[in-house]
Amino acid sequence: MHDYIESIPDFPEEGIIFRDITPLLANGPAYHQATEQIAHFAKERGVTVVVAPESRGFLVGAPVAENLGLGLVPARKAGKLPRKTLAETYQLEYGSAQLEMHVDAIKPGDKVVITDDLLATGGTIEATIKLVEALGGEVVGLAFFIELTALKGRDRLKGYDIYTLMTY
Ligand code: IMP
Repeated sequence: MHDYIESIPDFPEEGIIFRDITPLLANGPAYHQATEQIAHFAKERGVTVVVAPESRGFLVGAPVAENLGLGLVPARKAGKLPRKTLAETYQLEYGSAQLEMHVDAIKPGDKVVITDDLLATGGTIEATIKLVEALGGEVVGLAFFIELTALKGRDRLKGYDIYTLMTY
C-alpha cells in the first residue's frame, strides 16, 4: 500500500515530509482495498455511525459508511454547518482551529468509528472524539490510512482502539 503514497520533502514548509494520498485515491482497486479494510475493522467493533473530520476524513469515512450501509456524520470547520452545533477548539502547530458537529448528529448509544486520512499529533481526532462523546456517542474505533509514528498520536489517544493501514 505504501506504493500509492508519494512523499514530498519540504511541503508545505521546509523540514516537513508531506505524505500525499492522492495516488491512492486515484487508483480504483487500491482505494477500494484500503476502505474495505477499514470497513472490516469498523464492522468488527459494532459500529453504528461513521464520523469524519473535514476534509480528507470524508474521503475515508464516506466510502466506509456506504460500504456498511451506515450514516456518515461530518465534523466540519467553523461556520459551515447550518443548524445548532457543538464546537471544539484545538491547537495547531501555529494557532488554533475549530471543528463543529450538529447537536443532533449522534444518538445516545451510537457506536462511532472516526476516520481520517492521516494520524499525526492526534489533535484533530482528539477534538472530534470530544464532540462525539459530548453528544453521547461511544467511540469504538479510530481508523486512518497513515500513521506518522514519530508524532506520537497514539500516546495522546491512549485507551482508544486505533487501526492504521500504513506507518511512516
Ligand atoms: P494531527 O491533528 O496532528 O493528527 O494532524 C492530522 C491532520 O493533518 C489530518 O487531518 C491530515 O489530513 C493532516 N496532515 C498532517 N500531516 C499530513 C501529511 O503529511 N499528509 C497529509 N495530511 C497531513
